Amino acid sequence: MESRRPFIAGNWKMFKTCDEAEQTARELVALVAGATDRDVMIAPPFTALWPVAQALAGTNVGVGGQNLYWETEGAFTGEISPGMLTSAGCTHVIIGHSERRQYFRETDDAVNKKIKSAAAAGLKPVMCIGETEAEREAKKTFSVLDKQVKNGLQDLALNDVTNLTIAYEPVWAIGTGKTATSDQAQEAHAYIRNLVTECFDESVARAMRILYGGSVKPANIAELMSMADIDGALVGGASLEAKTFAEIVNF
Ligand code: PEP
Repeated sequence: MESRRPFIAGNWKMFKTCDEAEQTARELVALVAGATDRDVMIAPPFTALWPVAQALAGTNVGVGGQNLYWETEGAFTGEISPGMLTSAGCTHVIIGHSERRQYFRETDDAVNKKIKSAAAAGLKPVMCIGETEAEREAKKTFSVLDKQVKNGLQDLALNDVTNLTIAYEPVWAIGTGKTATSDQAQEAHAYIRNLVTECFDESVARAMRILYGGSVKPANIAELMSMADIDGALVGGASLEAKTFAEIVNF
């Protein structure tokens, strides 16, 4: 079986002031210093990126943006460019989170442009995909994943795809306390890996890390991580407190 380095990422969404974010980052570093066999990343709000990146400099915890805009600069009030993220200390960026797709009408086309511009700036994108509850009930899960993966990765250079991670986050499991069963998640992850083979080739698919997201907690991480195609987690609510997130990282 392919061995992929586990990757645990925390999405702090629109929570924490600069001081709160810096303090949580400092607490986290002390608790996960021994986790050198896996990648760890947190994505604070834009305003806290710089203090958090300073607090994490030289540690084993990376920093990510929660979004970006694909242009390098210009009259785009309220937007943040890839270069601004790297200059604030980011190594990663979350793209296409379901909250952005749902509340800010982000399309697969926008996700595709964002991934390309992130990759061009040397950022490692984490592309989020996943079906809604209604889509799952209507048995459309696979067709939704098909569209999101193929459109999101369209015309992506082979070089760029090697730094990309996919996060499978069923929308019905985000922030709801409902986790997909490990079998449901594994089925979706295996399907996504096949889609990556179709879009690129088998070696790209075998190397691609696919994270699960949706109410991941210390109590369910080990079982999820025991599945063949689950390579890590994107954690929302449970990443806000250093101790809880560290328990997930150190599963
Ligand atoms: C997320 O925001 O990506 C997420 C998975 O949230 P939660 O862990 O709170 O469900």
